Amino acid sequence: MKRLLFLTIIVVFLVYLAPIGFHFYQNGHPAEQEIHTVQNVENPSDSQALDGQNANKTADDADAAQAADEKTAEKQAPDAAASEKDTSPALRVSVNGRVREMSLEEYVAGAVAAEMPASFPDEALKAQAVAARTYAVYKQSLGRDEKHPDAVVCDDYTHCAAFVDLKNDAEELWGNKAEAWTKKIRAAAEQTAGKIVTYHDAPIAAVFHAAAAKQTEAAVSVWGADVPYLESVSSAGDDACPEYDSEVTLRAEEFRQLLLKKYPDINLTGLPKTWFTEVQSSEAGGVTSCKVGGIAMKGTEVRELLQLNSTHFTISTTDSTITFRTQGYGHGVGMSQYGAKHMAEDGKTFTEILEHYYTGTKVSDLAA
Ligand SMILES: [Zn+2]
Repeated sequence: MKRLLFLTIIVVFLVYLAPIGFHFYQNGHPAEQEIHTVQNVENPSDSQALDGQNANKTADDADAAQAADEKTAEKQAPDAAASEKDTSPALRVSVNGRVREMSLEEYVAGAVAAEMPASFPDEALKAQAVAARTYAVYKQSLGRDEKHPDAVVCDDYTHCAAFVDLKNDAEELWGNKAEAWTKKIRAAAEQTAGKIVTYHDAPIAAVFHAAAAKQTEAAVSVWGADVPYLESVSSAGDDACPEYDSEVTLRAEEFRQLLLKKYPDINLTGLPKTWFTEVQSSEAGGVTSCKVGGIAMKGTEVRELLQLNSTHFTISTTDSTITFRTQGYGHGVGMSQYGAKHMAEDGKTFTEILEHYYTGTKVSDLAA
């Protein structure tokens, strides 16, 4: 009888309790991933700063977060080069958390495919190709990355740049347009092969975003680091981005609870209209800092907390609600992808686009 009872307990444990344990374990994991995906990079000089949105939202959060899990990284056999003509150097890329070695040009094509709609004009795609190549070369020049020490770049768009494997995933991405779009994207990479953006002969942190709000943000306004080639410049055509105007409305109580989690001492009493003070804006119009319930916050922090599309926001309140209206999509620094599209449609070349968005730079050939 005792033995039967013992067996029953074992069976109950295996059938009911053990899976609950597993479930908790698995649940813990995605929560960490979410934190990773909303993380903002504070300084473009030690890691990229795409923190956000690009014109092509193909990278889903799960994939992006998975890329951070370097514990699962495995080395794979090097991929074949994109074409026989491709003699570009090898690059180690962390894709879905696995380190893969591929040619620089294969990486560039995959990054353009993931970062910009293939329907964009050729010169915009070429500008994107040069930006992606430049960023990889720039990252290589920095040496080991703490997040992915075995790879130069990863496919997490909040950290490096999104990436898709054009050889295997083009169909999934584009369906019956896969062949045409692959050809178009590869042409943008091939026609700019070996070209990068330089400032005083060094590769730049070629950061980009989906859409500015008529003017890009200077790096110093967003990340606090003054980068001479990431100044605020005019940007036309951003409003073609479908996410250009957006708004987030929260109930006052919801907002209070959200902020209290992070700042237990925050003073959110009285009417919501009294909660926001000392709002400071950049030359481009983005909120650089403000006080919320007496606590000083950066615009990037408010953006992150409330998952706003950009720091270019206004705040309006009623007695019971708070509304944030944003313009633009992404951090606003460097090249605007919709701005690049607009310039290309206006007859500008990829070189003109890049040299417009990255102040004082030029497009150069990568030293052999
Ligand atoms: Zn990365």
